[in-house]
Amino acid sequence: MAGKNKYWSKELETMPHERLKEHQLDRAKKQLKYAYKNSPYYKKSFNEAGVKPEDIKSFEDYQKGIPFISKPKIMEIQAQNPPLGDLLAVDPVELSQMFYAPGPIIYPFTQEDWVCVVEGAARALFTMGARKDDIVDCTVNYNWVIAGKLLDEAMKRAGTAVIPGGVGMTRTHIEVMKLTNCTILFGFPTFCQQLAETAREMGLDPDKDLSVRLVQVFGEVRTEAGKKALGEAFGAKVRELYGTADLGIVAAECPEGGGMHLDPDVLVEILDPQTGQPVTWGESGEICGCDFSRKAMPIIRYRTGDITEGLNLEPCSCGRTTPRLKRILGRVGDIPRIKGMFISPRQIDNVLDNYPELGKYQIIVERPKLRDELTIKIEYKEPLNLEGIKERLVNDLKVAIRVTPQLELVKKGTIPEDAPLVDDRRKV
Ligand SMILES: [Zn+2]
Repeated sequence: MAGKNKYWSKELETMPHERLKEHQLDRAKKQLKYAYKNSPYYKKSFNEAGVKPEDIKSFEDYQKGIPFISKPKIMEIQAQNPPLGDLLAVDPVELSQMFYAPGPIIYPFTQEDWVCVVEGAARALFTMGARKDDIVDCTVNYNWVIAGKLLDEAMKRAGTAVIPGGVGMTRTHIEVMKLTNCTILFGFPTFCQQLAETAREMGLDPDKDLSVRLVQVFGEVRTEAGKKALGEAFGAKVRELYGTADLGIVAAECPEGGGMHLDPDVLVEILDPQTGQPVTWGESGEICGCDFSRKAMPIIRYRTGDITEGLNLEPCSCGRTTPRLKRILGRVGDIPRIKGMFISPRQIDNVLDNYPELGKYQIIVERPKLRDELTIKIEYKEPLNLEGIKERLVNDLKVAIRVTPQLELVKKGTIPEDAPLVDDRRKV
């Protein structure tokens, strides 16, 4: 527990990288043994992969030998024998709560599991700057899913006073925030932005008339401009969190910014989404994580399907040694990979934020002659000097996505309403 200190778990958060890796491997090994012994699913899956927990001596063994799990796989196993199938690894009497997620997926927790996941989330909120004298409006969903209850309890664990605002009722949020001098707003970036607009509709200036000093956002892919605008609206810092229902909180951004520090209690790998092989440490790819503590339903080498821009490996002036997770670009499948680079619509959004005269766009990927070709078709709103804009735009896009696109500027209304944002015409 942090008290007045700078860190929640000083030793873990400031440990040299190599030592942390050893510590994580140790914990992962224990969890592999537990899962093999208690979960019929993991026993079968490890046996099929020809691996036993005791074979895992190094991180390389882990990466070579341990099979992945994913959301579709969890859904499949649970559906075979609802609600939890062969994934259940405790006597059902030990379960203390279950959450539902669309899929459907059921997430079971023992009381002990829950304490661990709350602790990780509290550490994340503390890392982002939440302190005991803060009052938080928690605007996430409290029903069925894990988010509301987990964050609510983690906020209390971090010592803040929580207002369980939940989703919707924007005017009530503003009234209560004003009444309580609420200092932290927690929610999806779009909902927080909507709250700023509601405040203005109510005749308030969210910067001057509310006391919000920190906006904690999660759960959505956002643009740089969106993050900046949100901070300006409230006159507050905006800090990000990344987590999934399956892994809990994976990373949190400290007041210094520059990415989200990986939580020391999750073993994170970044993979090439096509091959499942690890990318060079720091590079862009799919986030994969292993939780160390869940006993009810262990989550081992879970492929999240989320693509990150990569890791910031520079030392952070906050003193934490854990690498910082850069932005989430989107989901595997929504993000085409062209000439080895992931092309995220969000990177294109960031560029187009600076071109108010342009509107809707579509990403088209083709491979006419064994080479990938990227075309970005963009609608313009009114007649304009196309040649003047084209060169500057191609340059800006090239800097943002690191691939030179073909540009097709078309009249508003040309791209059909139902056209997919990414049209990948390559035959894979
Ligand atoms: Zn930091």
